[in-house]
Amino acid sequence: MTAVFQDPMFYDEDKAREALEAVRWPDGPICPHCGNSDQEKLAKIEGQKQSHRPGLYYCNECKGQFTVTVGTVFERSKVPLTKWWMAAHLMNSGKNGVSAHEIHRSIGVTYKTAWFMMHRIRTAVQESSFVKLPNSGAPVEVDETFIGGKARNMHLDKRERRITGTGGKDKTIVFGALERGGKVHTIIVKDRKKAGLQACVKEHVKAGAVLYSDALASYDGLAQEYAHKVIDHAEKYVDGQIHTQGLDNFWSLLKRGLNGTYVSVEPFHLFRYLDEQMFRYNYRGNREHKISDADRFNMVLSQVAGKRLTYQQVTGKVGETSF
Ligand SMILES: [Zn+2]
Repeated sequence: MTAVFQDPMFYDEDKAREALEAVRWPDGPICPHCGNSDQEKLAKIEGQKQSHRPGLYYCNECKGQFTVTVGTVFERSKVPLTKWWMAAHLMNSGKNGVSAHEIHRSIGVTYKTAWFMMHRIRTAVQESSFVKLPNSGAPVEVDETFIGGKARNMHLDKRERRITGTGGKDKTIVFGALERGGKVHTIIVKDRKKAGLQACVKEHVKAGAVLYSDALASYDGLAQEYAHKVIDHAEKYVDGQIHTQGLDNFWSLLKRGLNGTYVSVEPFHLFRYLDEQMFRYNYRGNREHKISDADRFNMVLSQVAGKRLTYQQVTGKVGETSF
């Protein structure tokens, strides 16, 4: 147990629930069924009967009952909130994240439960909408990378592959755009053809931005809309400001996570890992704006509302509700 788990929200179920209530309902409870927020028409009914769950509220407007977890990724979970908070905290500390095995061992749930909890938490941190890059006037790097296939092939040398044209057949292709000193966006694409990649660029990068890419022919023609400069990796990797090293670093963080920490990722689930890694990267902070693990954890807390992910959605299996 690290020192941070001494916070009562990690061992006291009431405190864990109050932490969620505080971020979800800063001005008092809101009925998730009818939206009623008139505190005179809402009543806490815990303690009136032994059978009532703690944290249960009654809405006089729609005569419904609810707790703070209704409509969040924790809804109907049998795992105590204290364990959810521990898992969320472990996942959002450090650079590479943790594996389901580590969560399983450190918080005392089964491996399967840990795996599913992690997917729910990833759903919570998913960016629901993208604002085009850059936010400042900084240059934007764009690039793609191959992920997946057999684990031993994951470290294929990018340069060699680009020059010889090998690799990529059974792999998933991820496009990325990264603002220097800012955020990264990633999206799974079906191929590296011009139409698709240029559509990605236009969707994620503001027209007129300074844009750096490698010499892949699919990026030809972007100079009409962008201050587009190309670095030809067959010749060199950096030419003054013109390079894609920021994105290269992000790809290696991502792949280190996928290879080492996560063991194996099915292509179907890849987007969830991308969400997690993007969240960690985009809220990493910098010298001027420091973001601690605790700050990032608070952001997770504030994002759990309004998102649900059922076991069926993750696995396609019906009828399993043991989480
Ligand atoms: Zn209501």
